[in-house]
Amino acid sequence: MTANILFAAGDTRWATYEAPLRRALDRAGVTAHLATDIAPQEVDYIVYAPDSPVQDFTPFTRARAVLNLWAGVENIVPNPTLHIPLARMVDHGLTSGMVEWVTGHALRHHLGMDTHILHQDGVWRPDAPPLASDRRVSVLGLGALGAACAQMLATLGFAVTGWSRTPKSIDTLRCLSGKDGLRTALQEADILVLLLPLTPETENLLNAARLALLPTGAVILNPGRGPLIDDDALIAALDTGHIGHATLDVFREEPLPPTHPFWAHPRVTVTPHIASETRPETAAQVIAENIRRGEAGEPLLHLVDRDAGY
Ligand code: NDP
Repeated sequence: MTANILFAAGDTRWATYEAPLRRALDRAGVTAHLATDIAPQEVDYIVYAPDSPVQDFTPFTRARAVLNLWAGVENIVPNPTLHIPLARMVDHGLTSGMVEWVTGHALRHHLGMDTHILHQDGVWRPDAPPLASDRRVSVLGLGALGAACAQMLATLGFAVTGWSRTPKSIDTLRCLSGKDGLRTALQEADILVLLLPLTPETENLLNAARLALLPTGAVILNPGRGPLIDDDALIAALDTGHIGHATLDVFREEPLPPTHPFWAHPRVTVTPHIASETRPETAAQVIAENIRRGEAGEPLLHLVDRDAGY
């Protein structure tokens, strides 16, 4: 049987994904017709990105799954025309990139690198940074990305707490859940990493009251999603110095408008949603494996729980 696979993630991505996808499908033993222009009623699988021109899934009457190229699904979950399974991206290339970004920015603040990089002014500042074991890091979200980042930080010696919706047990981390767990995770975070998905439950999770729970001078790293934080509350907490610094990769509006106060704030570092991205070579293997599973009648990997929103 030939699986008809529609690549509905835009022409630019097609140029980089076509060859890796064909190779991966071949290696997975899937006989496939992979194209960007298949009649909707003949499509079996849709390789997808939320900015795809395909927004109405109604004509895809025999499609068996939508396979998203991105980890975040907040723009697809509410689509009322989508009734077939939705798989999100869990790609080890994407995970590696995120681990590198989080670790690099955590180390920047932990080691106080800015002091020496920004002030080459002839002043001898002999204050050595503490060891990682003396620095507490909390990671909100212990999924594919959060758990990998938390484990890397723990490997470096940081005292790491993770927080998730359901209780977890991960060697080398203190794992918490629930409202009390969140309170503890915030109260004991010299560095706070946000790797939660955006859902109705997580929107504005970091509001003024929760920011106030963080220790004075805490650093926030947000590579999760912009609306996890109440922007005005964050700016107020940065202005008073209660929050020492925020390194933000994601925003309510992207690109971040040039006039947005984050750009000019001395305690904010803006990175332009580059913490990590799906890597075609590794992501193609994930997509191909899911199509192989679909064709073999096996359960798909990384299915989104639409009720939970991620
Ligand atoms: P996962 O779905 O694997 O993990 C999500 C984690 O968040 C889980 O641990 C989950 O808990 C937890 N969580 C969800 N809702 C709640 C809640 N209400 N309360 C407490 N914990 C909650 O996602 P990933 O790790 O793959 O990705 C996380 C996010 O990172 C993505 O959704 C995306 O927004 C962002 N991202 C950003 C990128 C960038 O370049 N900046 C690149 C890729 C992703 P549980 O384990 O109990 O289910």
